[in-house]
Amino acid sequence: MKRTRFAAAVLAALMIMTSAAQAAGGTAQAPAPQAAAETAQKPLPGGEDWQLLLVNPWNSLPEGFTVELATLSNGMKVDKRIVDDLSAMLTACRKAGLRPVICSAYRPQATQERLYKNKIARLRWAGYSQEAAVREAGRWVAVPGTSEHQTGLALDIVAASYQVLDKKQEETAEQKWLMEHCWEYGFILRYPSDKSEITGIGYEPWHYRYVGRETALAVRDSGLCFEEYLQALEEQETQQGTKRTINQQTNQEAAKAAS
Ligand SMILES: [Zn+2]
Repeated sequence: MKRTRFAAAVLAALMIMTSAAQAAGGTAQAPAPQAAAETAQKPLPGGEDWQLLLVNPWNSLPEGFTVELATLSNGMKVDKRIVDDLSAMLTACRKAGLRPVICSAYRPQATQERLYKNKIARLRWAGYSQEAAVREAGRWVAVPGTSEHQTGLALDIVAASYQVLDKKQEETAEQKWLMEHCWEYGFILRYPSDKSEITGIGYEPWHYRYVGRETALAVRDSGLCFEEYLQALEEQETQQGTKRTINQQTNQEAAKAAS
Protein backbone atom coordinates (compact mmCIF):
# COMPACT_ATOMS: atom_id res chain seq x y z
CA MET A 1 0.00 0.00 0.00
CA LYS A 2 1.52 3.32 -0.95
CA ARG A 3 1.87 6.14 1.51
CA THR A 4 -0.87 8.59 0.79
CA ARG A 5 -2.27 11.76 2.21
CA PHE A 6 -5.59 12.50 3.79
CA ALA A 7 -8.62 13.43 1.69
CA ALA A 8 -8.49 17.05 0.62
CA ALA A 9 -12.19 17.40 1.25
CA VAL A 10 -11.75 16.30 4.83
CA LEU A 11 -9.00 18.83 5.35
CA ALA A 12 -11.12 21.53 3.78
CA ALA A 13 -14.01 20.67 6.07
CA LEU A 14 -11.70 20.68 9.09
CA MET A 15 -10.36 24.08 8.08
CA ILE A 16 -13.90 25.43 7.78
CA MET A 17 -14.65 24.05 11.24
CA THR A 18 -11.47 25.56 12.68
CA SER A 19 -12.17 29.00 11.24
CA ALA A 20 -15.76 28.81 12.48
CA ALA A 21 -14.48 27.90 15.95
CA GLN A 22 -12.02 30.76 15.80
CA ALA A 23 -14.73 33.18 14.76
CA ALA A 24 -16.89 31.97 17.63
CA GLY A 25 -14.06 31.97 20.15
CA GLY A 26 -12.49 35.20 18.97
CA THR A 27 -8.90 33.95 18.98
CA ALA A 28 -6.93 31.10 17.50
CA GLN A 29 -6.35 29.84 21.04
CA ALA A 30 -10.06 29.35 21.74
CA PRO A 31 -10.37 26.70 24.46
CA ALA A 32 -11.11 23.23 23.14
CA PRO A 33 -14.05 21.31 24.56
CA GLN A 34 -13.17 19.54 27.81
CA ALA A 35 -13.26 16.01 26.42
CA ALA A 36 -11.07 16.91 23.44
CA ALA A 37 -8.56 18.70 25.68
CA GLU A 38 -8.26 15.69 27.96
CA THR A 39 -7.81 13.32 25.04
CA ALA A 40 -5.18 15.56 23.50
CA GLN A 41 -2.98 15.03 26.55
CA LYS A 42 -3.26 11.26 26.36
CA PRO A 43 -1.87 9.53 23.30
CA LEU A 44 -4.59 8.31 20.95
CA PRO A 45 -4.71 4.53 20.72
CA GLY A 46 -4.18 3.39 17.17
CA GLY A 47 -5.33 -0.21 17.26
CA GLU A 48 -4.26 -2.59 14.54
CA ASP A 49 -4.15 -1.38 10.95
CA TRP A 50 -7.03 -3.58 9.77
CA GLN A 51 -9.24 -1.98 12.42
CA LEU A 52 -8.44 1.50 11.06
CA LEU A 53 -9.20 0.79 7.41
CA LEU A 54 -10.79 3.94 5.99
CA VAL A 55 -13.31 3.50 3.20
CA ASN A 56 -15.33 6.54 2.17
CA PRO A 57 -16.22 8.46 -1.02
CA TRP A 58 -12.56 9.54 -1.39
CA ASN A 59 -10.96 6.29 -0.28
CA SER A 60 -11.86 3.11 -2.13
CA LEU A 61 -11.15 -0.35 -0.85
CA PRO A 62 -7.45 -1.13 -1.28
CA GLU A 63 -6.67 -2.95 -4.52
CA GLY A 64 -6.86 -6.72 -4.09
CA PHE A 65 -8.66 -6.38 -0.76
CA THR A 66 -9.67 -9.68 0.77
CA VAL A 67 -11.23 -10.56 4.10
CA GLU A 68 -11.84 -13.81 5.96
CA LEU A 69 -15.54 -13.94 6.69
CA ALA A 70 -17.65 -15.63 9.34
CA THR A 71 -21.33 -16.36 8.79
CA LEU A 72 -23.81 -15.08 11.38
CA SER A 73 -26.90 -16.99 12.48
CA ASN A 74 -29.05 -14.97 10.05
CA GLY A 75 -26.82 -15.98 7.14
CA MET A 76 -25.10 -12.60 6.81
CA LYS A 77 -21.34 -12.37 6.92
CA VAL A 78 -18.77 -10.22 8.73
CA ASP A 79 -14.99 -10.14 9.16
CA LYS A 80 -14.39 -13.12 11.45
CA ARG A 81 -12.18 -11.03 13.73
CA ILE A 82 -15.15 -8.98 14.94
CA VAL A 83 -17.52 -11.85 15.70
CA ASP A 84 -16.75 -12.15 19.42
CA ASP A 85 -17.26 -8.46 20.15
CA LEU A 86 -20.36 -8.31 17.95
CA SER A 87 -21.91 -11.30 19.72
CA ALA A 88 -21.10 -9.81 23.13
CA MET A 89 -22.75 -6.52 22.15
CA LEU A 90 -25.91 -8.14 20.81
CA THR A 91 -26.17 -10.47 23.79
CA ALA A 92 -25.92 -7.54 26.21
CA CYS A 93 -28.48 -5.60 24.19
CA ARG A 94 -30.92 -8.54 24.32
CA LYS A 95 -30.30 -8.96 28.04
CA ALA A 96 -31.49 -5.39 28.41
CA GLY A 97 -34.83 -6.62 27.04
CA LEU A 98 -34.29 -5.30 23.50
CA ARG A 99 -34.54 -6.86 20.05
CA PRO A 100 -31.74 -5.68 17.74
CA VAL A 101 -31.80 -6.98 14.15
CA ILE A 102 -28.84 -6.93 11.79
CA CYS A 103 -30.28 -5.92 8.43
CA SER A 104 -27.05 -5.49 6.48
CA ALA A 105 -23.47 -6.66 7.01
CA TYR A 106 -20.73 -7.62 4.54
CA ARG A 107 -21.47 -6.85 0.89
CA PRO A 108 -19.36 -8.21 -1.94
CA GLN A 109 -18.54 -5.90 -4.85
CA ALA A 110 -21.20 -7.54 -7.05
CA THR A 111 -23.96 -6.78 -4.53
CA GLN A 112 -22.86 -3.17 -4.19
CA GLU A 113 -22.83 -2.86 -7.99
CA ARG A 114 -26.34 -4.29 -8.20
CA LEU A 115 -27.66 -1.89 -5.53
CA TYR A 116 -26.02 1.05 -7.27
CA LYS A 117 -27.25 0.11 -10.76
CA ASN A 118 -30.78 -0.54 -9.47
CA LYS A 119 -30.84 2.89 -7.86
CA ILE A 120 -29.76 4.54 -11.12
CA ALA A 121 -32.35 2.53 -13.06
CA ARG A 122 -35.14 3.57 -10.69
CA LEU A 123 -34.13 7.21 -10.98
CA ARG A 124 -33.98 6.98 -14.79
CA TRP A 125 -37.44 5.43 -14.74
CA ALA A 126 -38.61 8.34 -12.55
CA GLY A 127 -37.49 10.77 -15.25
CA TYR A 128 -33.92 11.68 -14.33
CA SER A 129 -31.34 12.10 -17.12
CA GLN A 130 -28.50 9.57 -17.03
CA GLU A 131 -26.09 12.18 -15.65
CA ALA A 132 -28.55 13.40 -12.98
CA ALA A 133 -29.43 9.81 -12.04
CA VAL A 134 -25.77 8.92 -11.49
CA ARG A 135 -25.27 12.03 -9.37
CA GLU A 136 -28.39 11.42 -7.30
CA ALA A 137 -27.73 7.67 -6.87
CA GLY A 138 -24.32 8.44 -5.34
CA ARG A 139 -26.03 10.35 -2.55
CA TRP A 140 -27.97 7.27 -1.43
CA VAL A 141 -25.98 4.23 -2.43
CA ALA A 142 -22.19 4.22 -2.16
CA VAL A 143 -20.36 3.94 -5.46
CA PRO A 144 -19.11 0.33 -5.71
CA GLY A 145 -15.70 0.07 -4.05
CA THR A 146 -16.43 2.90 -1.60
CA SER A 147 -18.98 1.25 0.69
CA GLU A 148 -17.80 0.44 4.18
CA HIS A 149 -20.01 -2.66 4.01
CA GLN A 150 -17.46 -4.14 1.61
CA THR A 151 -14.89 -4.29 4.43
CA GLY A 152 -16.87 -6.74 6.58
CA LEU A 153 -16.40 -4.31 9.48
CA ALA A 154 -19.71 -2.45 9.13
CA LEU A 155 -23.23 -3.40 10.15
CA ASP A 156 -26.65 -1.86 9.90
CA ILE A 157 -28.60 -2.71 13.04
CA VAL A 158 -32.25 -1.79 13.54
CA ALA A 159 -34.98 -2.38 16.09
CA ALA A 160 -37.15 -5.44 15.38
CA SER A 161 -40.20 -3.23 15.95
CA TYR A 162 -39.04 -0.53 13.52
CA GLN A 163 -36.94 -1.75 10.60
CA VAL A 164 -36.93 1.44 8.53
CA LEU A 165 -33.63 3.15 7.74
CA ASP A 166 -34.58 6.72 8.54
CA LYS A 167 -33.96 9.33 11.21
CA LYS A 168 -36.73 7.95 13.44
CA GLN A 169 -34.54 4.90 13.99
CA GLU A 170 -32.65 6.98 16.60
CA GLU A 171 -35.78 7.09 18.76
CA THR A 172 -35.97 3.32 19.20
CA ALA A 173 -34.84 1.84 22.52
CA GLU A 174 -32.45 -0.40 20.57
CA GLN A 175 -30.59 2.54 18.99
CA LYS A 176 -30.50 4.42 22.27
CA TRP A 177 -28.89 1.40 23.89
CA LEU A 178 -26.48 0.79 21.01
CA MET A 179 -25.43 4.44 20.82
CA GLU A 180 -24.69 4.40 24.53
CA HIS A 181 -22.89 1.05 24.66
CA CYS A 182 -21.44 0.22 21.22
CA TRP A 183 -18.10 1.80 22.22
CA GLU A 184 -17.61 -0.76 24.96
CA TYR A 185 -17.57 -3.51 22.33
CA GLY A 186 -15.31 -1.82 19.79
CA PHE A 187 -17.96 -0.24 17.57
CA ILE A 188 -18.59 3.39 16.69
CA LEU A 189 -21.65 5.10 15.28
CA ARG A 190 -19.91 5.82 12.00
CA TYR A 191 -22.03 8.63 10.50
CA PRO A 192 -23.08 11.06 13.25
CA SER A 193 -25.64 13.75 12.53
CA ASP A 194 -23.20 16.67 12.61
CA LYS A 195 -20.30 15.24 10.60
CA SER A 196 -21.79 14.58 7.16
CA GLU A 197 -19.51 17.06 5.38
CA ILE A 198 -16.49 15.18 6.66
CA THR A 199 -17.73 11.60 6.33
CA GLY A 200 -19.41 12.24 2.98
CA ILE A 201 -22.45 10.29 4.23
CA GLY A 202 -25.68 11.59 5.76
CA TYR A 203 -26.72 10.83 9.34
CA GLU A 204 -27.24 7.08 9.75
CA PRO A 205 -28.40 6.18 13.27
CA TRP A 206 -28.12 2.45 12.41
CA HIS A 207 -24.67 2.04 10.82
CA TYR A 208 -22.00 0.74 13.20
CA ARG A 209 -18.37 0.20 12.37
CA TYR A 210 -15.85 -1.96 14.18
CA VAL A 211 -12.58 -0.18 15.07
CA GLY A 212 -11.50 -2.14 18.17
CA ARG A 213 -12.35 -1.43 21.80
CA GLU A 214 -9.55 1.00 22.64
CA THR A 215 -10.07 3.10 19.53
CA ALA A 216 -13.86 3.09 19.89
CA LEU A 217 -13.67 4.53 23.39
CA ALA A 218 -11.10 7.10 22.29
CA VAL A 219 -13.30 8.14 19.36
CA ARG A 220 -16.25 8.55 21.72
CA ASP A 221 -14.23 10.56 24.25
CA SER A 222 -12.77 12.82 21.58
CA GLY A 223 -16.12 13.70 20.01
CA LEU A 224 -14.42 13.26 16.62
CA CYS A 225 -15.77 11.27 13.70
CA PHE A 226 -13.57 8.50 12.28
CA GLU A 227 -12.01 10.69 9.56
CA GLU A 228 -11.10 13.37 12.11
CA TYR A 229 -9.78 10.77 14.52
CA LEU A 230 -7.49 9.25 11.89
CA GLN A 231 -6.28 12.73 11.03
CA ALA A 232 -5.44 13.42 14.69
CA LEU A 233 -3.76 10.01 14.98
CA GLU A 234 -1.72 10.69 11.86
CA GLU A 235 -0.55 14.03 13.27
CA GLN A 236 0.39 12.38 16.54
CA GLU A 237 2.31 9.59 14.83
CA THR A 238 4.08 12.08 12.56
CA GLN A 239 5.22 13.99 15.64
CA GLN A 240 6.40 10.79 17.28
CA GLY A 241 8.00 9.50 14.10
CA THR A 242 5.90 6.35 14.26
CA LYS A 243 3.66 7.06 11.30
CA ARG A 244 2.01 4.03 9.81
CA THR A 245 0.51 3.61 6.37
CA ILE A 246 -3.23 4.01 6.40
CA ASN A 247 -5.12 3.99 3.13
CA GLN A 248 -5.83 7.64 2.75
CA GLN A 249 -5.53 9.64 -0.38
CA THR A 250 -6.59 12.97 -1.73
CA ASN A 251 -9.19 13.42 -4.44
CA GLN A 252 -6.44 14.27 -6.93
CA GLU A 253 -4.48 11.13 -6.16
CA ALA A 254 -7.62 9.06 -6.47
CA ALA A 255 -8.45 10.61 -9.85
CA LYS A 256 -4.88 10.03 -11.05
CA ALA A 257 -4.97 6.39 -10.01
CA ALA A 258 -8.30 5.88 -11.78
CA SER A 259 -7.21 7.47 -15.05
ZN1 LIG B 1 -24.66 0.76 6.59
